[in-house]
Amino acid sequence: MTYELPDLSYDYDALEPHIDARIMELHHSKHHQGYVDGANAATESLEEMRESGDFGDIKSVKRALAFHLSGHVNHTVFWENMHPDGGGEPGGELADALEEDFGSVEGFMDDFTHAANNAEGSGWGMLLYDHVGDCMIVGAAENHQNQTPQGTTPLLACDVWEHAYYLQYENDRGSYVDAFWEVVNWDDVAERYEAAQSADLIS
Ligand code: MN
Repeated sequence: MTYELPDLSYDYDALEPHIDARIMELHHSKHHQGYVDGANAATESLEEMRESGDFGDIKSVKRALAFHLSGHVNHTVFWENMHPDGGGEPGGELADALEEDFGSVEGFMDDFTHAANNAEGSGWGMLLYDHVGDCMIVGAAENHQNQTPQGTTPLLACDVWEHAYYLQYENDRGSYVDAFWEVVNWDDVAERYEAAQSADLIS
């Protein structure tokens, strides 16, 4: 087993009233677990293919690997991006960098909010560190893995699949995204920014 479901650093009800405990429980223990299992199944299938020399199903397995592993990565970042003591606005170097890359912190939050609200079907609003431009950009992923530029590291991820909000917000995704800002753990985002910025991954 290569991939494992991470524990949350807070209880399922810790983000209430912004995100309901039952959503958190199902989302973490069922949905995220499913992506972990799917990623492990795909890597096992690939191992079997290499051993048998029969690569007949490789197209669908590679597609499954991209989907499930991206789901695992995005959710792992998403859980740590939230905290019961979160909310407010970013400060320090992260705030300075957001101002430089988006004009203002408000400009970044508007960009991100609209990206999340307008992702068609199932997807994510994401703040990404672009290792080529050495700057931050906002992405809007479809499913978990599509429409995300290569060479980027996720810093902040907001899940806008219906399983992330429907039990509490029904079809009102906008109110859910507004509530997400109330629990964002800016210290975690700042740590990810620092780590990504100092990693010389692509010249
Ligand atoms: Mn999800």
